[in-house]
Amino acid sequence: MQGDGRVIPAEGWVRTRRDSKGVTFLEINDGSTIKNLQVVIDQGFGGFDAVTANLTTGSSVVVTGKLIASPGQGQAVEIAAESIEILGTAPVDEFPLQKKKHSFEFLREIAHIRPRTNSFGAVARVRNAMSFAIHSFFQERGFIYVHTPIITGSDAEGAGEMFQVTTLPLEKVPLVEGRVDFGQDFFGKKASLTVSGQLEGETYACALKNIYTFGPTFRAENSNTSRHLAEFWMIEPEMAFCDITGNMDIAEDFLKYIFAYVLEKCPDDMDFFDSRISKGVIDNLRQIAGSSFKRISYTEAVDQLQKSKASFEFPVSWGIDLQSEHEKFLTEQIYRQPVIITDYPKQIKAFYMKLNDDNDTVRAMDILVPRLGEIVGGSEREADYDRLKNRIVECGLNPDDYWWYLDLRRYGSVPHSGFGLGFERLIQFVTGMQNIRDVIPYPRAVNTLEF
Ligand code: ATP
Ligand code: MN
Repeated sequence: MQGDGRVIPAEGWVRTRRDSKGVTFLEINDGSTIKNLQVVIDQGFGGFDAVTANLTTGSSVVVTGKLIASPGQGQAVEIAAESIEILGTAPVDEFPLQKKKHSFEFLREIAHIRPRTNSFGAVARVRNAMSFAIHSFFQERGFIYVHTPIITGSDAEGAGEMFQVTTLPLEKVPLVEGRVDFGQDFFGKKASLTVSGQLEGETYACALKNIYTFGPTFRAENSNTSRHLAEFWMIEPEMAFCDITGNMDIAEDFLKYIFAYVLEKCPDDMDFFDSRISKGVIDNLRQIAGSSFKRISYTEAVDQLQKSKASFEFPVSWGIDLQSEHEKFLTEQIYRQPVIITDYPKQIKAFYMKLNDDNDTVRAMDILVPRLGEIVGGSEREADYDRLKNRIVECGLNPDDYWWYLDLRRYGSVPHSGFGLGFERLIQFVTGMQNIRDVIPYPRAVNTLEF
């Protein structure tokens, strides 16, 4: 925009107002960018007295005036008001966002108003850009976007923590032989919200070669951490004719693409995160986008952790599931960069991961990043019918429940691989925001369901 004297209308919400001798300055913002537009009002102009009392932080206005070069610092142009219309007032003693800095905890209580702050406006714009980048990355590479179901009759991971979906009357649940009679429920069987679209995704990969899903997933985890939500978005690509190395290559390319995209498309918002939320976040992303991730096996990771002689809350030995403290130590202290860990013990991974020849480890690959730990979990999938069936049984699951999944290994089985990436964890990493509840508009977690 140039300050060429054009008369234009500008709409927005008043962020701040400052009165000095004969002149009032407004900062208004319409959410399109983190930068405010400065409005200069000559207090002598006709109509000023009529609006002045209601021209407060939070009110919505349409200002018409000349766009001129700004003599002040911090902006190239400003508007010299010729008329001001207040569309909606925001009484000073009631509107919760006054000029002082508010804590993120407080802002969570007014999640319907928080997008009007700098931080949450920036998060919303970056989240939008990243969503678009996710589709761009896969579409440019010929991946087909598949919509996997949200209500499911199967448990992808073979582990609990699912939300049940039912129309049975909870105050009088029908029973047969002391157990809930799901035959009378809506679907005639037990139903849940999906924890992952992977299994259905695999069926489409085994027909269309490269697919991805990007949608909401649900986990009834009772963990009150800054990295877990009950409802979060997951990106799950699945590639046929692809082994674990191809899987790692795509995951790494994907992350770098997203980082580079955000740095290019959201420079003002990223400057804000860098200066106000997490110092160095831009340099960090730039560096990661331009380097190769470290790739090590689980066995090597355990060796390194043991050799470090660091004291951990959870002691390290071969076979343990890596805890957040171990993941952080690997990425922040030992390698100081993202690390891909492969070949985990089969006991700590899901039944569908391809068994290695050693019979002890599976072709899993997790990507760990500094500050957050795991953001990607993936694997090459077991493509052999008998081995898969054995693993299902070994994991205490019923092969009959997986008949259609097993069919993929009966007809035209191919090596295939994929991964799951939590979208909110990725946004946390990109923005430096500390709490996952602040990178999704309306967080759902234990005892959190206002709005
Ligand atoms: P964690 O150990 O951190 O709980 P996980 O092993 O349960 O993760 P996966 O089942 O592999 O995770 O899910 C794939 C990805 O989904 C994870 O890498 C993470 O980015 C994300 N994710 C998992 N659980 C949650 C959650 N409750 N809230 C937000 N994102 C999640
Ligand atoms: Mn988990």
